[in-house]
Amino acid sequence: MDEVQITPGMQRYIDKNNQYLADRDRYIRDEVKKWKFDTVAVHGLYTVRDAIEDYQGAIVEPIFMSTSQAYRDSDEMAAALAYLIPTWCYSRIANPSTYYYEWTLALLEGYGFDGETSCCSTSSGMAAIMTAVQPFLVNRTHHKLEPRNFVATARCYGGTFQQFSVRLMEERDIECRWVLDGGNLDEWASKIDENTRFLYGELPSNPGQGFFDVRAVADLAHEHNLPLICDSTVATPALLRPICHGADVVVQSVTKTLCSSGFGVCGAVIARKNLVTNIDNEAMRSDFASYVKYLPNRDYGPNLHPMQAIMALNDIRTLRSKVDLMSRNTMRVARFLDQHPAVESVQYLGLPSHPLHELASRYLWLVDAEYDELYGKPVNRYGHLLSFCVRGGAEAARKAFDKLQRIWRATDLGRIKSVATIPAISTHQQQGEKGRELAHIPPNLIRLCVGGEHPDDVIADLERALG
Ligand SMILES: *Cc1c(COP(=O)(O)O)cnc(C)c1O
Repeated sequence: MDEVQITPGMQRYIDKNNQYLADRDRYIRDEVKKWKFDTVAVHGLYTVRDAIEDYQGAIVEPIFMSTSQAYRDSDEMAAALAYLIPTWCYSRIANPSTYYYEWTLALLEGYGFDGETSCCSTSSGMAAIMTAVQPFLVNRTHHKLEPRNFVATARCYGGTFQQFSVRLMEERDIECRWVLDGGNLDEWASKIDENTRFLYGELPSNPGQGFFDVRAVADLAHEHNLPLICDSTVATPALLRPICHGADVVVQSVTKTLCSSGFGVCGAVIARKNLVTNIDNEAMRSDFASYVKYLPNRDYGPNLHPMQAIMALNDIRTLRSKVDLMSRNTMRVARFLDQHPAVESVQYLGLPSHPLHELASRYLWLVDAEYDELYGKPVNRYGHLLSFCVRGGAEAARKAFDKLQRIWRATDLGRIKSVATIPAISTHQQQGEKGRELAHIPPNLIRLCVGGEHPDDVIADLERALG
């Protein structure tokens, strides 16, 4: 941006807004950061004062459909468009409804973290991944294309696999170095060189239940002056907050468990302030999420619709209790499947037989269980995604799948309603047999996401289908 000429009129707006921002920071530090998780989820940063002063007393965050904001005069406009004061200048860039969504997610991912976090809302989880990785892949020399690579867990969402292997690797010659065993720190380390830009990991992975030691991988990344980006969609901040364990950036497909009602598609990038990177860009390093929001995403436009932001917020308010309920239901279903003769294997991190159970148990805790009158102590919860292999191969799996009645057949997860899919013919169809082998996805694997129904009814449906 060119140097901005600041007039005395602009300065008055800047001073007034600096006062407002200082008050907001103090409110976050002295009040919001001291609340329990549920209180943050219910209120976020929307206050009685905001409501009464600006929004006619509306107790729910308003949905601002307006494309843009009008300014009092040219000084205010000039200050806003130079980003010298907070602004809703144009809804592709910023909007009051997405503002509250962003703050709620920044605070939830930053719950228990003693630094600051910020968030950039995106139109989907895939847009969040693109938003998070692209700024680290820029050309540093501005002259010729440099060799660039990044290191990522092969056990990941099918869409992520496509974005990395087709859009980045095939189409742009940016090398994705897949880590086959996320638990093996030497494998991560062996793939890093001077052209590496970031490490990327999904945990727990969808659908394979991959997991890795976040703290150890974050330390490894930082030793090489690289950031660690985590896709934490399956865990949600109710179970895991990777930034508290050293990760720099978190991507969320808010579409999933965060928005369990199933009303729409949305995403978010949440980052710690002052992250680690080998890209020489101070704005990006000091506040990554605001940087991507106001610059790259302004120019690319993968923004979230304000209506969608408020629909998602409405779901997020009850996240902790829903994740607890659905995780407990999933545990019961996993135990049932685990002893069923028609089932070859069950992949669920909550089962002690899972090879990653112990590692996952170090990280996956129901937030604030120690303050819950039912528990009064920390308790592990493992989320509501599991998968199982049906004995008899692909044919038998499809037969059982087709007999499901209560559980919906859909390529979806995170729902309050139980849904199941066969990844090999749906979410992971495009990546081919080799890609599926990398991600550990055999053709007889059924992915099941257990919802909020009574688990006996879900089990009865499975019993009938497998019988
Ligand atoms: C669904 C999903 C995504 C993509 O999110 P969309 O909102 O569908 O774009 C990314 N990561 C994981 C783990 C997912 O399950």
